[in-house]
Amino acid sequence: MTRPLREFVHAFGLLLYTRPEEPQLLAQGGALLRTLVARDDWLPEAFAEPHPEYYRQYLLHADSTERFSVVSFVWGPGQATPVHDHTVWGLIGMLRGSEFSQGYVEREGAWVPEGEAVRLQPGDVEAVSPRIGDVHRVRNAFDDRVSISIHVYGANIGAVRRHTYPPEGGRRLFVSGYSNTLLPNLWDRSAELRSAAE
Ligand code: FE
Repeated sequence: MTRPLREFVHAFGLLLYTRPEEPQLLAQGGALLRTLVARDDWLPEAFAEPHPEYYRQYLLHADSTERFSVVSFVWGPGQATPVHDHTVWGLIGMLRGSEFSQGYVEREGAWVPEGEAVRLQPGDVEAVSPRIGDVHRVRNAFDDRVSISIHVYGANIGAVRRHTYPPEGGRRLFVSGYSNTLLPNLWDRSAELRSAAE
């Protein structure tokens, strides 16, 4: 049942054809993502599998010209990211469970938490970017169950040089990988077309 994801990818591509400024892109793209995560009946099981030790990132779609990518971020119980940046805009939509995102700012050469962590509940959407705040640490809000969020980035995020910010200071080069080697098949609409022809 990949139709909601296919419709999202289609609409997101059309939005990018209009070359919106970032505020408009995050607002309109955020609304599309909110529609996608308003229902939790479309993510194939293979892209929802946690790993006992590490959070997983499954590529769901990479735009043919790498204008954007869509990833399912699967948290095992208690799992967390390091403090990291993105260097491109990102949208995070909560699909299942819940996560905390804690923003960080640089003060006197050190990256420190800024304000309260944001708690995302199913259906919620959050944005990051170098313009609005790009450094955060994210964790599963639950110690006893899996949480899943759907991320959209303004690039093929698996091909972006970015950074983690270790507690001892400085920053380290970071390129995130993908946990999957296969992609969901968004493009086989033959069953739909056959039944519509009857
Ligand atoms: Fe992030």
